[in-house]
Amino acid sequence: MKQVVVLSGKGGTGKTSFLASFAALAGECVLADCDVDASNLAILAGGLEGEEEPFFGEGVARVDPELCSRCGKCEEACRFHAVAIPRAPGGEPAGPARVVEIACEGCGLCGIVCPEGAITMEDRRSGTLVVAESRHGPIVHARLLPGEGNSGKLVTMVREKAKGIAAGKGLDLVLVDGSPGIGCPVISSLADVDGAFLVAEPSVSALHDLERIHQLLERFQVRACLVLNKFDLQPGVGERILAFCREAGIFPAGKVAFDPLFLEALQEGRSIVEFAPGSRPAQAVEEAWRGGKEFLKI
Ligand code: SF4
Ligand code: SF4
Repeated sequence: MKQVVVLSGKGGTGKTSFLASFAALAGECVLADCDVDASNLAILAGGLEGEEEPFFGEGVARVDPELCSRCGKCEEACRFHAVAIPRAPGGEPAGPARVVEIACEGCGLCGIVCPEGAITMEDRRSGTLVVAESRHGPIVHARLLPGEGNSGKLVTMVREKAKGIAAGKGLDLVLVDGSPGIGCPVISSLADVDGAFLVAEPSVSALHDLERIHQLLERFQVRACLVLNKFDLQPGVGERILAFCREAGIFPAGKVAFDPLFLEALQEGRSIVEFAPGSRPAQAVEEAWRGGKEFLKI
């Protein structure tokens, strides 16, 4: 089984739109949407609704008011200011310690320093994992609740689930929609993959993003190819991006020109290769898929 991730340095480059096309071109495969902070692959590939599973990220501290002696040690220890003792105007404690749930990072330090054993950690639901059927095969995606963190852990859960489904159904390709950026969720998106498609637009910031992603890919020893989207909007910068890729060993799989058909396809909730098969942009995406597939040996 091969796992291939589609990445971009930032959101809005067309990453998910390309991935939906690749899924349509690949035949039956498993899709893993690891952009858990703004999951939207299922809008384009289908499979928004499915079986749901709760995701528990960090725990949250709970204070037993009966045991709390109002000593203030938890308040002093918490660097996130997530636990505090209500105080009277004169500063003296006016009640047992209280936890501000949204600020609590679940580190558990307050429970360690509490002399009364008044603090315990409880599970907190941070999101939902969804397994559904897209038009191209099973899809796994997730929704992180507002304000919740630990998306790297949720990404790993999405990846594991997708891998398990592929193994169970005998499917030999998992296409992973990676998180944007270079932080923890991206690292979870690309750990253990067999290759990466990078999607970039011709801008100076995209070049900078590519340089950073390249460092990450090198560290993980992942082969990568590039799809340059809207290359005709700034051809000069596009050439600089391609020159960087040549130097860095990133294979230029394809260049796709700006085309309003992409927007129409998005409005219809379809990938370009399904919405306008045979059109100029659909052909460019197909070429990029074929070129990248060959280079990455998918
Ligand atoms: S450390 Fe324990 S006893 Fe002291 S204020 Fe916090 S919860 Fe109460
Ligand atoms: S678990 Fe950590 S973040 Fe949460 S209240 Fe306790 S010390 Fe603060």
